[in-house]
Amino acid sequence: MTFFPTIVRRSQYIGEPKVYTYRRYKSEIAEDCAHRCVYCDCHCNSLGGHVLMELDHFRPKSVPHFPELENEPKNLVLACRSCNGRKRDDWPAGKAKETTHVDGLGYIDPFETQRLLYFNVDERGTLAAKKDPAAYMIEQLSLNRPFAVAIRARRLLRGKLHAAIDRLADELRAMDDSAHQAGQLRQIADLLQEANQALRDLEMEDGPAL
Ligand SMILES: [Zn+2]
Repeated sequence: MTFFPTIVRRSQYIGEPKVYTYRRYKSEIAEDCAHRCVYCDCHCNSLGGHVLMELDHFRPKSVPHFPELENEPKNLVLACRSCNGRKRDDWPAGKAKETTHVDGLGYIDPFETQRLLYFNVDERGTLAAKKDPAAYMIEQLSLNRPFAVAIRARRLLRGKLHAAIDRLADELRAMDDSAHQAGQLRQIADLLQEANQALRDLEMEDGPAL
C-alpha cells in the first residue's frame, strides 16, 4: 500500500510499564508503525532516520488528560517532530478513553482505523479529508506542509517510474524476430520516454541534478 498501510499493534510489549519509562518502547513502536509517522505518513528514512522520530502519547499524558497512561506502550505511536510538536496536548475529545473525536474535532487511532477511509492522497501528494475528523487533523497538524507533500509526491513518482521500467522489461522479454518487431520497438521507445519524464519530474521535486 503506497500510503497509510494497515498497521497492527503487537499483543504484548516486553517490559512492564511500571518498571520502564515510555522511551524504552521506541524500537517496538517504530516497527509496529511501519517506521512511518502515523499522521503525515512520511517514512523515517525521508526525515533523517529514527533518531529524529519521536513517540507521541496518542492520548496526551498531561494533566488533566491521561497522566496514568504516561508509560503505557499501547498509548504510544511513532510521530515526526513536526506532527508531534503540533499535536502536543491537544485532545478535544474529553476524558472518556474510548472516544477519540467529537463533532469533527480530534484524532483517529491509527491502530484502530483504516486511515485511507479518512484521507485521500492526490497525484501531487496532497492529503484531502474524506470524513471527520480528517479535516481537523490536516489543519491542526499541518499535514499538507510543503515538505510532507513533497515526500509523498516523490513516493508517487518513484512508483510510476518503477511501473514504467517494469513494463519496458516485459516488452523487451516479449520481443521476437517476427514482423511485429517494429511495433514493439515503438512501444519500448514510448515507455522509455515515459520513464524519462517521470525522472524529470522527480528531479524537479528534489532540485536540479548536479
Ligand atoms: Zn508527521
